[in-house]
Amino acid sequence: MKKLMLLGDEALAQGVVDAGCSGVFAYPGTPSTEVMEYIQKCPEALQRDIHRTWSSNEKTAVEEAVGMSYTGKRTMSCMKHVGLNVAADPFMNSAFVGANGGHIVTVADDPSMHSSQNEQDSRFYAKFAMIPCLEPSNQQECYDMAFHAYELSEKYHLPVMMRLETRLSHSRSGVQRREMLAENELKLPEDRNQFMLLPAFARRKYKHLIEIQPDLTEESENSPYNWVEEGKDSSLGIIACGLAYNYVKEATTRYNCEYPILKISQYPIPVKMIEKFVDDCEKILVVEEGQPLVEEMLKGAIPKNTKITGRLNGAFTRDGEMDPNKVAVALGKETLSGKGLPEVVTGRPPALCVGCPHIDSYKSLNEALKSYVEDGQRYVFSDIGCYTLGFLPPYNSINTCLDMGASITMAKGAADAGLFPAIAVIGDSTFSHSGMTGLLDCIYDKTNLVIIILDNSTTGMTGGQDYTGFGKLEAICSGMGVEKEHIRVITPLSRQFEENVQVLKEEIEYEGVSVIIPRRECVQTMTRRMRAKKKQEAK
Ligand code: SF4
Repeated sequence: MKKLMLLGDEALAQGVVDAGCSGVFAYPGTPSTEVMEYIQKCPEALQRDIHRTWSSNEKTAVEEAVGMSYTGKRTMSCMKHVGLNVAADPFMNSAFVGANGGHIVTVADDPSMHSSQNEQDSRFYAKFAMIPCLEPSNQQECYDMAFHAYELSEKYHLPVMMRLETRLSHSRSGVQRREMLAENELKLPEDRNQFMLLPAFARRKYKHLIEIQPDLTEESENSPYNWVEEGKDSSLGIIACGLAYNYVKEATTRYNCEYPILKISQYPIPVKMIEKFVDDCEKILVVEEGQPLVEEMLKGAIPKNTKITGRLNGAFTRDGEMDPNKVAVALGKETLSGKGLPEVVTGRPPALCVGCPHIDSYKSLNEALKSYVEDGQRYVFSDIGCYTLGFLPPYNSINTCLDMGASITMAKGAADAGLFPAIAVIGDSTFSHSGMTGLLDCIYDKTNLVIIILDNSTTGMTGGQDYTGFGKLEAICSGMGVEKEHIRVITPLSRQFEENVQVLKEEIEYEGVSVIIPRRECVQTMTRRMRAKKKQEAK
């Protein structure tokens, strides 16, 4: 099979397709987006017509993947780390119902928060759910581990988490492919109660999950992805997890450090392997990307007189990405820093694109609110997407951003407390993701608020993906109970400014639930669409 140059996300995507996956369910979110995007274009996925459209959110994605697994087919759900919070309910329960056809839950973490509202380590979720977790250290492992994950998943009838990080997801390397496997035949679970979580069954399943933990640990002891590299200088032993293994190798090679290294890429942690490794070393340095999961576990698992260093005692900072410099400093060496970054790649604060429709929406909103608020007073609850950049000058239009869908519910809570006017700003894709249930709360309580659904006809921030509510916003709002005359569609253009301000004021004055939909296509997707059209016409 030929070698491909692939991003970590793409290597995993090609891996699941080649390992016989029948369907991928995902919601876009950096750094995981490219997994689904690759599968949507992958010739083998097209040829097999595997399921590859976006889901409304991460929760529905996991539930849909569990449904496909029920039929005996191999499947994958995929999201970024904060998306796993949205999917936490089905994710935790999927460990109980297990898998029939193999189920991989891919979660891409974003240490250093390059494009995220928090920094969290998904390995904790895998440990919490008591399922195996694979943490590839390079693109080849991303690919190979897809095969391994499905075997493990089907052997133990459990979902398996694949944890990636930004640096791996978005860097490219050569990947050797294997022969493609056939998809599984449709085959329902032998135990017809396997996917039934009535308390009586759930208790039994929980016991079973606990009972198989030693087997999962044994799998990690014998995993081809966990290994020890001997070293002559046992004054220090380095435990390097997943991607951090590369940083350790770069630093130790540079300084000719001959410390033994234990690489961990399969969890639960291989306890016997660690015990032996620790016995043979005077001190231990734990290098892991994310939070100190392994370090914390070691502190409870090995002799008290063994000195363990890592993120907990200040050898590394508790936050931010790992890199070879940090490892070098922890080893007592000079940093590996080379020349500084050239000016062209530094200091580029995020900003709305020139011509972005949100700019006109925010200008109108700012103007409309002038009659209600004094300068500096805060009333606009926002959400996650390009429009979050409306917080920045010169717009200064929004005041909060908590999580996907929270603009509507936060504005409702504030309105319930008596705040007037209460304004929620949410994107069209985000509304489909998790804004709809908040709207239902508002309708039920006849809350006095204005919800602005910024409709740019795409999921803009992650690069212009489709979303499930496209073309249906008015119908959804109306169907959910918003009065038709208070669903107002406006066009966010400067020539419509006065008219749009007037609509906003009218709906602020209306006592009840109003929905205003400023509708104009994202300039990025529009440009791409026009280019593609021209290309097509030129043929
Ligand atoms: S990508 Fe689209 S929606 Fe996002 S800032 Fe640019 S124009 Fe606006």
